[in-house]
Amino acid sequence: MSKPQKPIGLYIHVPFCKRKCRYCDFYSVTRTDLTEDYVKAAIRNIKTYGDIIFDTVYFGGGTPSLLSPNQIGEILRCADLAADCEITLECNPNSAAEEIFKSFAETGINRISIGVQSLCDETLLTLGRLHNAETAVKTLMAAVKIFKNVSADLMIGLPGQTVYDIQTSIKTFAEIGLNHISIYMLKIEADTPFYKNPPEDLPDEDRVAELYLETVKTAEENGFCQYEISNFAKPGYESKHNTKYWECNEYIGIGPSAHSYYGGKRFAVKRDLGDFLNAPVQNTYITDENPGSADERIMLNLRLTQTGIKTAPALTEKILPFIKAGFLKTDNERLTLTPQGCLVSNPIIGEIISIFEKSNFDNL
Ligand code: SF4
Repeated sequence: MSKPQKPIGLYIHVPFCKRKCRYCDFYSVTRTDLTEDYVKAAIRNIKTYGDIIFDTVYFGGGTPSLLSPNQIGEILRCADLAADCEITLECNPNSAAEEIFKSFAETGINRISIGVQSLCDETLLTLGRLHNAETAVKTLMAAVKIFKNVSADLMIGLPGQTVYDIQTSIKTFAEIGLNHISIYMLKIEADTPFYKNPPEDLPDEDRVAELYLETVKTAEENGFCQYEISNFAKPGYESKHNTKYWECNEYIGIGPSAHSYYGGKRFAVKRDLGDFLNAPVQNTYITDENPGSADERIMLNLRLTQTGIKTAPALTEKILPFIKAGFLKTDNERLTLTPQGCLVSNPIIGEIISIFEKSNFDNL
Protein backbone atom coordinates (compact mmCIF):
# COMPACT_ATOMS: atom_id res chain seq x y z
CA MET A 1 0.00 0.00 0.00
CA SER A 2 1.29 3.47 -0.83
CA LYS A 3 1.84 5.93 2.01
CA PRO A 4 -0.58 8.86 1.89
CA GLN A 5 1.07 12.15 0.93
CA LYS A 6 -1.18 14.19 3.17
CA PRO A 7 -2.96 13.62 6.48
CA ILE A 8 -6.09 11.48 6.29
CA GLY A 9 -9.13 10.75 8.47
CA LEU A 10 -9.51 8.14 11.22
CA TYR A 11 -12.92 6.68 12.03
CA ILE A 12 -13.19 4.60 15.20
CA HIS A 13 -16.35 2.53 15.56
CA VAL A 14 -17.19 1.97 19.23
CA PRO A 15 -19.69 -0.90 19.14
CA PHE A 16 -21.38 -0.58 22.53
CA CYS A 17 -24.85 0.64 23.54
CA LYS A 18 -26.65 0.36 26.85
CA ARG A 19 -29.73 -0.84 24.97
CA LYS A 20 -30.64 -1.18 21.30
CA CYS A 21 -33.01 1.47 19.95
CA ARG A 22 -35.95 0.02 18.05
CA TYR A 23 -35.03 1.46 14.66
CA CYS A 24 -31.25 0.99 14.72
CA ASP A 25 -29.26 -1.30 12.45
CA PHE A 26 -25.81 0.10 13.25
CA TYR A 27 -23.50 -2.55 14.59
CA SER A 28 -23.45 -2.46 18.38
CA VAL A 29 -23.80 -4.84 21.32
CA THR A 30 -24.78 -4.35 24.95
CA ARG A 31 -21.65 -6.12 26.34
CA THR A 32 -20.21 -3.00 27.97
CA ASP A 33 -18.03 -5.27 30.14
CA LEU A 34 -15.84 -5.69 27.05
CA THR A 35 -14.80 -2.06 26.64
CA GLU A 36 -11.32 -2.61 28.08
CA ASP A 37 -10.62 -5.44 25.60
CA TYR A 38 -12.02 -3.27 22.83
CA VAL A 39 -9.66 -0.40 23.67
CA LYS A 40 -6.66 -2.76 23.53
CA ALA A 41 -7.78 -4.08 20.12
CA ALA A 42 -8.42 -0.58 18.78
CA ILE A 43 -4.94 0.56 19.86
CA ARG A 44 -3.34 -2.56 18.37
CA ASN A 45 -4.99 -1.82 15.04
CA ILE A 46 -4.30 1.92 14.96
CA LYS A 47 -0.63 1.16 15.56
CA THR A 48 -0.54 -0.87 12.33
CA TYR A 49 -1.03 2.48 10.56
CA GLY A 50 1.82 4.07 12.53
CA ASP A 51 3.27 5.92 9.53
CA ILE A 52 0.11 7.96 8.95
CA ILE A 53 -0.78 11.41 10.26
CA PHE A 54 -4.47 11.95 10.93
CA ASP A 55 -6.06 15.39 10.66
CA THR A 56 -9.55 14.23 11.67
CA VAL A 57 -10.65 11.57 14.16
CA TYR A 58 -14.28 10.57 14.52
CA PHE A 59 -15.47 8.30 17.35
CA GLY A 60 -18.79 6.93 16.07
CA GLY A 61 -20.95 4.05 17.10
CA GLY A 62 -22.63 2.60 18.95
CA THR A 63 -22.21 4.98 21.85
CA PRO A 64 -18.57 6.10 22.06
CA SER A 65 -19.25 8.05 25.25
CA LEU A 66 -19.63 4.68 27.01
CA LEU A 67 -15.83 4.59 26.92
CA SER A 68 -14.31 6.50 29.82
CA PRO A 69 -12.26 9.65 29.18
CA ASN A 70 -9.20 7.60 30.20
CA GLN A 71 -9.95 5.01 27.53
CA ILE A 72 -10.55 7.69 24.86
CA GLY A 73 -7.28 9.35 25.91
CA GLU A 74 -5.39 6.05 25.62
CA ILE A 75 -6.68 5.56 22.07
CA LEU A 76 -5.85 9.11 21.00
CA ARG A 77 -2.33 8.92 22.40
CA CYS A 78 -1.42 6.02 20.13
CA ALA A 79 -2.33 7.89 16.92
CA ASP A 80 -0.14 10.47 15.19
CA LEU A 81 -2.40 13.53 15.10
CA ALA A 82 -1.97 16.79 13.18
CA ALA A 83 -1.77 19.88 15.39
CA ASP A 84 -5.16 21.18 14.21
CA CYS A 85 -6.83 17.76 14.22
CA GLU A 86 -10.64 17.83 14.45
CA ILE A 87 -11.57 15.15 17.02
CA THR A 88 -15.28 14.33 17.27
CA LEU A 89 -16.99 12.19 19.89
CA GLU A 90 -20.57 11.01 19.41
CA CYS A 91 -22.45 11.07 22.74
CA ASN A 92 -25.89 10.22 23.96
CA PRO A 93 -27.71 12.67 26.27
CA ASN A 94 -26.58 12.07 29.82
CA SER A 95 -27.61 13.68 33.07
CA ALA A 96 -23.99 13.98 34.30
CA ALA A 97 -22.88 15.63 31.10
CA GLU A 98 -20.87 18.66 32.23
CA GLU A 99 -18.35 16.75 34.37
CA ILE A 100 -17.87 14.10 31.69
CA PHE A 101 -17.49 16.70 28.93
CA LYS A 102 -14.74 18.45 30.92
CA SER A 103 -12.84 15.16 31.18
CA PHE A 104 -13.33 14.39 27.46
CA ALA A 105 -12.07 17.87 26.53
CA GLU A 106 -8.87 17.14 28.48
CA THR A 107 -8.20 14.12 26.24
CA GLY A 108 -8.17 16.32 23.11
CA ILE A 109 -11.79 15.88 22.00
CA ASN A 110 -12.77 19.20 20.41
CA ARG A 111 -16.09 18.44 18.73
CA ILE A 112 -19.15 16.78 20.24
CA SER A 113 -22.05 15.27 18.33
CA ILE A 114 -25.09 14.51 20.48
CA GLY A 115 -27.76 11.97 19.51
CA VAL A 116 -30.82 14.05 20.42
CA GLN A 117 -33.04 12.67 17.61
CA SER A 118 -36.22 14.36 18.90
CA LEU A 119 -37.35 16.78 21.57
CA CYS A 120 -40.70 15.01 22.01
CA ASP A 121 -40.82 12.61 24.99
CA GLU A 122 -43.50 10.40 23.48
CA THR A 123 -41.51 9.98 20.26
CA LEU A 124 -38.30 9.23 22.17
CA LEU A 125 -40.14 6.49 24.04
CA THR A 126 -41.47 5.02 20.78
CA LEU A 127 -37.94 5.02 19.33
CA GLY A 128 -36.66 3.18 22.39
CA ARG A 129 -34.27 5.96 23.37
CA LEU A 130 -33.08 6.11 26.98
CA HIS A 131 -33.25 9.90 27.34
CA ASN A 132 -36.08 12.42 27.44
CA ALA A 133 -36.26 15.92 25.99
CA GLU A 134 -35.24 17.60 29.24
CA THR A 135 -32.04 15.53 29.54
CA ALA A 136 -31.26 16.22 25.88
CA VAL A 137 -31.55 19.99 26.36
CA LYS A 138 -29.49 19.92 29.57
CA THR A 139 -26.80 17.88 27.81
CA LEU A 140 -26.64 20.32 24.90
CA MET A 141 -26.37 23.24 27.33
CA ALA A 142 -23.54 21.50 29.18
CA ALA A 143 -21.77 20.73 25.90
CA VAL A 144 -21.70 24.34 24.69
CA LYS A 145 -20.19 25.41 28.02
CA ILE A 146 -17.19 23.16 27.39
CA PHE A 147 -16.91 22.91 23.57
CA LYS A 148 -17.03 25.52 20.80
CA ASN A 149 -18.02 22.93 18.26
CA VAL A 150 -21.26 21.09 19.10
CA SER A 151 -23.60 19.23 16.77
CA ALA A 152 -26.97 17.56 17.34
CA ASP A 153 -28.60 14.72 15.43
CA LEU A 154 -32.26 15.18 14.58
CA MET A 155 -34.47 12.52 13.01
CA ILE A 156 -37.24 13.29 10.57
CA GLY A 157 -40.11 11.16 9.34
CA LEU A 158 -40.90 10.11 12.90
CA PRO A 159 -44.29 8.83 14.05
CA GLY A 160 -46.72 11.72 14.45
CA GLN A 161 -43.98 14.31 13.78
CA THR A 162 -45.23 17.75 12.81
CA VAL A 163 -43.67 20.76 11.13
CA TYR A 164 -44.02 22.53 14.49
CA ASP A 165 -41.87 19.81 16.18
CA ILE A 166 -39.10 20.39 13.63
CA GLN A 167 -39.27 24.18 13.94
CA THR A 168 -39.18 24.02 17.75
CA SER A 169 -36.22 21.62 17.82
CA ILE A 170 -34.10 23.68 15.42
CA LYS A 171 -34.92 26.94 17.19
CA THR A 172 -33.98 25.33 20.51
CA PHE A 173 -30.63 24.18 19.03
CA ALA A 174 -29.99 27.73 17.79
CA GLU A 175 -30.89 29.31 21.14
CA ILE A 176 -28.58 26.95 23.01
CA GLY A 177 -25.73 27.93 20.69
CA LEU A 178 -25.09 24.80 18.63
CA ASN A 179 -23.29 25.27 15.36
CA HIS A 180 -24.09 22.07 13.50
CA ILE A 181 -27.12 19.84 12.88
CA SER A 182 -27.19 16.44 11.16
CA ILE A 183 -30.53 15.03 10.12
CA TYR A 184 -31.50 11.41 9.60
CA MET A 185 -34.62 10.15 7.89
CA LEU A 186 -36.22 7.27 9.77
CA LYS A 187 -35.96 4.15 7.64
CA ILE A 188 -37.47 0.88 8.71
CA GLU A 189 -34.48 -1.44 8.40
CA ALA A 190 -34.61 -5.24 8.27
CA ASP A 191 -33.69 -7.05 11.49
CA THR A 192 -34.85 -4.24 13.75
CA PRO A 193 -37.79 -4.34 16.17
CA PHE A 194 -39.49 -1.65 14.01
CA TYR A 195 -39.36 -4.03 11.04
CA LYS A 196 -41.44 -6.61 12.91
CA ASN A 197 -43.66 -4.07 14.66
CA PRO A 198 -43.70 -0.77 12.78
CA PRO A 199 -44.82 2.19 14.87
CA GLU A 200 -48.22 3.73 14.25
CA ASP A 201 -48.72 7.10 12.61
CA LEU A 202 -45.69 7.02 10.34
CA PRO A 203 -45.78 9.96 7.90
CA ASP A 204 -46.29 9.17 4.21
CA GLU A 205 -43.87 10.27 1.47
CA ASP A 206 -45.49 13.68 0.94
CA ARG A 207 -45.40 14.38 4.64
CA VAL A 208 -41.74 13.39 4.91
CA ALA A 209 -40.99 15.72 1.97
CA GLU A 210 -42.77 18.54 3.77
CA LEU A 211 -40.83 17.84 6.98
CA TYR A 212 -37.52 17.79 5.10
CA LEU A 213 -38.18 21.07 3.25
CA GLU A 214 -39.27 22.69 6.50
CA THR A 215 -36.07 21.47 8.14
CA VAL A 216 -33.96 23.12 5.42
CA LYS A 217 -35.97 26.36 5.66
CA THR A 218 -35.94 26.58 9.47
CA ALA A 219 -32.26 25.67 9.65
CA GLU A 220 -31.35 28.43 7.17
CA GLU A 221 -33.57 30.94 9.01
CA ASN A 222 -31.65 30.15 12.19
CA GLY A 223 -28.20 30.57 10.63
CA PHE A 224 -27.43 26.91 9.84
CA CYS A 225 -26.42 26.76 6.16
CA GLN A 226 -27.08 23.54 4.34
CA TYR A 227 -23.75 22.21 3.04
CA GLU A 228 -24.73 18.59 2.43
CA ILE A 229 -28.01 16.80 1.84
CA SER A 230 -28.34 15.99 5.56
CA ASN A 231 -26.00 18.47 7.22
CA PHE A 232 -26.27 22.11 8.27
CA ALA A 233 -23.65 24.31 9.88
CA LYS A 234 -22.90 27.82 11.00
CA PRO A 235 -20.21 29.13 8.61
CA GLY A 236 -16.83 27.54 9.38
CA TYR A 237 -18.29 24.67 11.43
CA GLU A 238 -18.85 22.11 8.66
CA SER A 239 -17.67 18.64 9.74
CA LYS A 240 -14.14 18.25 8.36
CA HIS A 241 -14.21 14.50 8.89
CA ASN A 242 -17.48 13.80 7.12
CA THR A 243 -16.55 16.15 4.28
CA LYS A 244 -13.69 13.75 3.52
CA TYR A 245 -16.29 11.09 2.61
CA TRP A 246 -18.10 13.34 0.14
CA GLU A 247 -14.90 14.71 -1.36
CA CYS A 248 -13.59 11.14 -1.87
CA ASN A 249 -10.59 11.66 0.41
CA GLU A 250 -8.93 8.79 2.22
CA TYR A 251 -9.73 7.58 5.74
CA ILE A 252 -9.05 4.54 7.85
CA GLY A 253 -11.82 2.78 9.80
CA ILE A 254 -11.07 0.88 13.02
CA GLY A 255 -13.54 -1.42 14.80
CA PRO A 256 -16.23 -3.89 13.79
CA SER A 257 -18.27 -2.68 10.77
CA ALA A 258 -15.99 0.34 10.18
CA HIS A 259 -15.32 1.24 6.54
CA SER A 260 -12.07 2.52 5.02
CA TYR A 261 -10.93 4.13 1.80
CA TYR A 262 -7.19 3.68 1.71
CA GLY A 263 -4.45 2.47 -0.61
CA GLY A 264 -6.73 2.61 -3.65
CA LYS A 265 -9.39 0.30 -2.18
CA ARG A 266 -12.55 0.55 -0.16
CA PHE A 267 -12.85 -2.10 2.54
CA ALA A 268 -14.83 -2.86 5.70
CA VAL A 269 -14.22 -4.65 8.98
CA LYS A 270 -16.35 -7.72 9.84
CA ARG A 271 -19.43 -6.92 11.93
CA ASP A 272 -18.24 -9.12 14.77
CA LEU A 273 -16.88 -7.78 18.05
CA GLY A 274 -15.47 -11.17 19.11
CA ASP A 275 -13.52 -11.41 15.88
CA PHE A 276 -12.21 -7.85 16.31
CA LEU A 277 -11.09 -8.54 19.88
CA ASN A 278 -9.28 -11.76 19.03
CA ALA A 279 -7.70 -11.08 15.65
CA PRO A 280 -4.11 -9.74 15.77
CA VAL A 281 -5.15 -7.38 12.94
CA GLN A 282 -8.80 -6.63 12.22
CA ASN A 283 -10.30 -8.81 9.48
CA THR A 284 -11.49 -6.79 6.51
CA TYR A 285 -13.18 -7.51 3.20
CA ILE A 286 -13.00 -5.44 0.02
CA THR A 287 -16.14 -3.49 -0.81
CA ASP A 288 -14.76 -1.72 -3.91
CA GLU A 289 -11.65 -2.73 -5.86
CA ASN A 290 -11.59 0.42 -8.01
CA PRO A 291 -12.98 3.36 -6.08
CA GLY A 292 -12.79 6.98 -7.18
CA SER A 293 -14.51 6.55 -10.57
CA ALA A 294 -16.05 9.60 -12.24
CA ASP A 295 -19.53 8.23 -11.45
CA GLU A 296 -18.72 7.80 -7.78
CA ARG A 297 -17.31 11.32 -7.58
CA ILE A 298 -20.42 12.79 -9.19
CA MET A 299 -22.57 10.82 -6.74
CA LEU A 300 -20.64 11.91 -3.65
CA ASN A 301 -19.73 15.48 -4.72
CA LEU A 302 -23.36 16.28 -5.63
CA ARG A 303 -24.29 15.64 -2.01
CA LEU A 304 -22.34 18.81 -1.20
CA THR A 305 -25.07 21.35 -1.81
CA GLN A 306 -22.83 24.42 -1.92
CA THR A 307 -20.06 23.17 -4.20
CA GLY A 308 -21.62 20.28 -6.15
CA ILE A 309 -19.80 19.32 -9.34
CA LYS A 310 -18.12 21.07 -12.24
CA THR A 311 -20.30 21.49 -15.30
CA ALA A 312 -20.07 23.28 -18.66
CA PRO A 313 -22.40 25.59 -20.62
CA ALA A 314 -22.52 22.95 -23.38
CA LEU A 315 -24.42 20.65 -21.01
CA THR A 316 -26.98 23.25 -19.96
CA GLU A 317 -29.54 22.21 -22.55
CA LYS A 318 -29.56 18.61 -21.29
CA ILE A 319 -29.68 19.68 -17.68
CA LEU A 320 -32.30 22.38 -18.26
CA PRO A 321 -35.35 20.15 -17.61
CA PHE A 322 -34.02 19.38 -14.11
CA ILE A 323 -33.32 23.04 -13.48
CA LYS A 324 -36.78 24.05 -14.68
CA ALA A 325 -38.33 21.38 -12.45
CA GLY A 326 -36.47 22.92 -9.48
CA PHE A 327 -34.19 19.94 -8.72
CA LEU A 328 -30.86 21.48 -9.76
CA LYS A 329 -29.29 24.89 -10.07
CA THR A 330 -26.20 26.08 -11.90
CA ASP A 331 -24.06 29.16 -12.41
CA ASN A 332 -22.78 27.53 -15.62
CA GLU A 333 -19.63 26.40 -13.81
CA ARG A 334 -20.95 24.35 -10.88
CA LEU A 335 -24.05 22.22 -10.67
CA THR A 336 -25.76 21.77 -7.30
CA LEU A 337 -28.89 20.14 -5.91
CA THR A 338 -31.72 22.31 -4.60
CA PRO A 339 -33.58 21.20 -1.43
CA GLN A 340 -36.25 19.67 -3.72
CA GLY A 341 -33.47 17.86 -5.58
CA CYS A 342 -32.04 16.56 -2.31
CA LEU A 343 -35.36 14.85 -1.63
CA VAL A 344 -35.07 12.76 -4.79
CA SER A 345 -31.29 12.79 -4.97
CA ASN A 346 -30.79 9.16 -6.06
CA PRO A 347 -32.73 9.29 -9.36
CA ILE A 348 -31.52 12.82 -10.12
CA ILE A 349 -27.88 11.86 -9.55
CA GLY A 350 -28.43 8.78 -11.75
CA GLU A 351 -29.70 11.02 -14.58
CA ILE A 352 -26.77 13.43 -14.22
CA ILE A 353 -24.26 10.58 -14.33
CA SER A 354 -25.89 9.33 -17.52
CA ILE A 355 -25.82 12.82 -19.15
CA PHE A 356 -22.15 13.27 -18.25
CA GLU A 357 -21.24 9.80 -19.53
CA LYS A 358 -23.07 10.28 -22.85
CA SER A 359 -21.47 13.71 -23.34
CA ASN A 360 -18.10 12.26 -22.41
CA PHE A 361 -17.70 15.20 -20.04
CA ASP A 362 -14.98 14.86 -17.44
CA ASN A 363 -16.15 16.74 -14.36
CA LEU A 364 -13.00 16.16 -12.33
S1 SF4 B 1 -29.34 4.56 17.62
FE1 SF4 B 1 -27.37 4.93 18.60
S2 SF4 B 1 -27.78 4.59 20.80
FE2 SF4 B 1 -29.48 3.65 19.70
S3 SF4 B 1 -28.84 1.50 19.41
FE3 SF4 B 1 -28.22 2.61 17.57
S4 SF4 B 1 -26.12 3.20 17.91
FE4 SF4 B 1 -27.02 2.66 19.92
